[in-house]
Amino acid sequence: MKVIILGGDGFCGWPTSLHLSAAGHEILIIDNLSRRNIDNELEASSLTPIRPMGERIETWHKLTGRELRFLNIDVSRHYHRLLTAIIQYKPDAVIHFAEQRAAPYSMKSSWHKRYTISNNINATHNLLAAIVEANLDIHVVHLGTMGVYGYGTVGMKIPEGYLNVKLEAENGNLYEQEILYPANPGSVYHLTKTQDQLIFGYYNKNDQIRITDLHQGIVWGTQTEETRIHESLINRFDYDGDYGTVLNRFLMQAAIGYPLTIHGTGGQTRAFINIQDTVRCIKIALENPPMLGERVKIYNQMTETHRIRDLANVVASLSNAKIQYIPNPRNEDDENNLYVKNDQFLSHGLKPVTLADGLLEEIVDIAKRYSSRCNIDKIPCVSYWNKECQKNSKLQN
Ligand code: NAD
Repeated sequence: MKVIILGGDGFCGWPTSLHLSAAGHEILIIDNLSRRNIDNELEASSLTPIRPMGERIETWHKLTGRELRFLNIDVSRHYHRLLTAIIQYKPDAVIHFAEQRAAPYSMKSSWHKRYTISNNINATHNLLAAIVEANLDIHVVHLGTMGVYGYGTVGMKIPEGYLNVKLEAENGNLYEQEILYPANPGSVYHLTKTQDQLIFGYYNKNDQIRITDLHQGIVWGTQTEETRIHESLINRFDYDGDYGTVLNRFLMQAAIGYPLTIHGTGGQTRAFINIQDTVRCIKIALENPPMLGERVKIYNQMTETHRIRDLANVVASLSNAKIQYIPNPRNEDDENNLYVKNDQFLSHGLKPVTLADGLLEEIVDIAKRYSSRCNIDKIPCVSYWNKECQKNSKLQN
């Protein structure tokens, strides 16, 4: 298949590009390298020494004989360059990772809120408008988040995107309907993902665009089969207070003897997936597109749920790290249960990498190996969801 990967330089996009290239798909990466510029802005960098795009592509070509093409386009702003790329390349599918993806970054200031809204929503809308204008039948695979659902349920499993409801009509009759699961975003970043869902629903209904939306859990781990082949192909590993996701932060903290910092009570339950499973899931989604006219296909792309304090205890037991409870900068429930359906990927044969399989290896192979590159000043999260969170944090410090 011919595939365009928007955001193919990022944490999920780069290993996906290699995984699909290794499987024989023809890949064009489009990325504006904004994530690397955000590193400059935050004066933080990946724990792992990621290489420039040119070197990544050349190394892959030398080692495998396979070609990756690359275009530097801001898909949220340079509509005509995106449209031209689509018309000339004529992809069978576009995989869309090209969004600002950190909730704390999206909450730093009004500038960051506005940037996240404008970047993410325009990127998604430009892609769909360009596909309609190009008049091509292209399958869009988008990376959404489990956060679109919010995190509390009444004890039921969160379904894969759609919810069956019974509505009472004026005459008292009950009618069954399937609706999008009610959106409940917890940050401006999550808000953009809930808007993406509506944009997809509309273009699917109006223009019959075939769309798969992957509601992904928090990704942990760093390397995949393909990024491991050579040091120049290494994937990024974020540990800083804005971009570091919770489990990767614990792993790095354990590796350098820094206490594992738990926000609030640690009673928040979240969904997780290993990066190796991320790339496998995307390949499954790519190779099983919805039919023309079928509604947006939604998968929950996660494999395990864990309470944050339980995760910290597992990492502490593997590494003798200490645990520190700190005020929560986020406006979220202290404690929640989370039950999630993920039957679709399992029915396609996904055999998940479990935390029990991969955690220790990740501490030793990545976090310990590159610990000298860590800047501990970048570990604390200094983005506050609102004034109240900021005040509580100051009072307790
Ligand atoms: P990332 O920031 O590492 O990668 C995103 C890539 O997109 C970057 O290379 C960036 O330069 C590029 N990009 C951003 N805006 C762009 C634009 N306007 N034009 C062109 N390129 C642009 O993020 P990631 O962790 O790889 O996440 C990829 C997708 O997966 C995101 O949409 C994110 O919301 C979703 N996701 C990630 C996680 C996770 O834990 N990492 C969890 C759930 C969902």
